[in-house]
Amino acid sequence: MPAKWWGWGDERKSFALADPQRFWSFLEQRLGQTAESARLRSLDEIALRPARLDERQLAALRRVLGDGNVSVDRADRAVHSLGKGYRDLVRIRRGDIASPTDAVVYPESDAQIAAVLDLAASEAFSVIPFGGGTSVVGGVEPLGDKPTLTLDLRRMARVVAVDRVSGLATVGAGIFGPALEAALNAAGFTLGHFPQSFEYSTLGGWIATRSAGQNSTRYGKIEENVESVRLHFPGGAIETPAVPAAAAGPDLNQIIAGSEGAFGVITSAVIRLARLPERSDYRAYLMPDFERGVEAAREMLQSGLRPSLLRLSDEAESEATALMQAGAEGLTLSLFLLGFDGDEAEVRSSWKRAEAVMERHAGSSLGAGPGDAWRRSRFEAPYLRDLLLDRSVMVDTLETATTWSNYLPLYRSTRDAMQSAMGGHGIVMAHLSHAYTHGASVYYTFLAAQRNGEELEQWQEVKDAATRAIVDGGGALSHHHAIGVEHRRWLTEYLGDGSIEILRSLKRVLDPSDIMNPGKLIPSSKETT
Ligand SMILES: Cc1cc2nc3c(=O)[nH]c(=O)nc-3n(C[C@H](O)[C@H](O)[C@H](O)COP(=O)(O)OP(=O)(O)OC[C@H]3O[C@@H](n4cnc5c(N)ncnc54)[C@H](O)[C@@H]3O)c2cc1C
Repeated sequence: MPAKWWGWGDERKSFALADPQRFWSFLEQRLGQTAESARLRSLDEIALRPARLDERQLAALRRVLGDGNVSVDRADRAVHSLGKGYRDLVRIRRGDIASPTDAVVYPESDAQIAAVLDLAASEAFSVIPFGGGTSVVGGVEPLGDKPTLTLDLRRMARVVAVDRVSGLATVGAGIFGPALEAALNAAGFTLGHFPQSFEYSTLGGWIATRSAGQNSTRYGKIEENVESVRLHFPGGAIETPAVPAAAAGPDLNQIIAGSEGAFGVITSAVIRLARLPERSDYRAYLMPDFERGVEAAREMLQSGLRPSLLRLSDEAESEATALMQAGAEGLTLSLFLLGFDGDEAEVRSSWKRAEAVMERHAGSSLGAGPGDAWRRSRFEAPYLRDLLLDRSVMVDTLETATTWSNYLPLYRSTRDAMQSAMGGHGIVMAHLSHAYTHGASVYYTFLAAQRNGEELEQWQEVKDAATRAIVDGGGALSHHHAIGVEHRRWLTEYLGDGSIEILRSLKRVLDPSDIMNPGKLIPSSKETT
């Protein structure tokens, strides 16, 4: 699939609004007038700084990797220099890549990765591990003064082995979602990991960011499904033992998960699989309000139910969804998508219990239609962002997680902080989509008319207001988007000085010369909020 360099996904695809005229006039009522926004038409129009590598250095890289695995091509460098968050898209659409990577390398083996890291140490290069480049927190953007190599893992994408008895697979870190699932499905298994970026993100990227899929309530976040992992760092490599549980000191898998390329390169992992479900039964309900929906979700999770799909939209998101997908205006209720996977008997008995909970909370069933429609279009929503950017609409998402007792207070205080940072002229909507026995995540989408010429400053004001509310309100600094650049300066306040010192000492041990993804994850000692 040809990927869009200036936006999301397949170049040939666009978001299909049910009733475009109604949708745009609804937005104009809420956001005020928006103008069409111009963008560069071709990557050739970007003035990219020349690569800061001389012929000797390039020849050394080619000796290690082979001629075809080293690229200084402009387009290749440009698309490897930014991720896919709002800040990235605003910049790439206007051709603003102030800090491009100097070369993109495509290793094919662990030995080549070890040799690239040796070369990086002796030549004082930085190295950025790159999976699909779908980071929304600035995770793949070059920072610092050193020449940078972006190490794209896509040629390390083999399913090496499937242990059908244990339900485990050994897989190269550069594999993309669809190829991984196809191979696992053929063996009768699934990883059950479907982030909205599934088609364009990789196993290594998921582990490095502690990603969460749309079915995480049943299948778990990615870090729960890592049995073992192999990490190369400057000067060494480790492979953690492949065991289901251990009491052999702290779990190193959990230190590597979320390390965001700052500790080393994840080259492969042994992942925990689930049997392909015999049946998936996804349905929709309308709840009287978001609060009743949250109560219903909590009751289900605390009674031991594990829905595969649990997505409860607040009233604002429900209204927008009805308008986008059905062209219907004025919905004031809360949309609850709920689904179970499993064998026939399990799905039937789960639904019986869930129906009783929904009834107690005055949910009214919309049947299976909206659930099936959600499944068919589950990866489509990001395409709408490109249409909105074409109309000068700021649109971004952010997320957190908290305990059930703090859920509604945090949901409201963060929403209100974002709303007031937009001067009351924006839309803030939210949903609950990853639920646990003891709490759940909140995922916000916010929109406003762009302030022409100050798009990034305007975004930063909303982001700062939201993050302040999250940190003050006791939420997770991130539930699944990770730290990257965007959350880095908040990490010390969030974790505390002692915990940051532990992270810094790990970095010093694994990467003493700061080769690996500098400026990501770990704040400098001078940085404050
Ligand atoms: C439209 C859209 C929807 C999204 N939906 C979700 C969602 O539902 N759930 C979710 O969790 N996230 C989501 N994300 C965020 C993003 O897709 C995830 O963070 C994903 O895990 C990144 O994977 P990637 O392969 O693209 O990694 P990249 O973006 O390439 O890298 C992300 C970070 O991981 C590091 N890294 C990558 N590969 C490796 C490796 N092999 N070894 C060491 N470090 C590595 C990079 O250096 C970087 O710091 C979404 C993003 C977009 C744009």
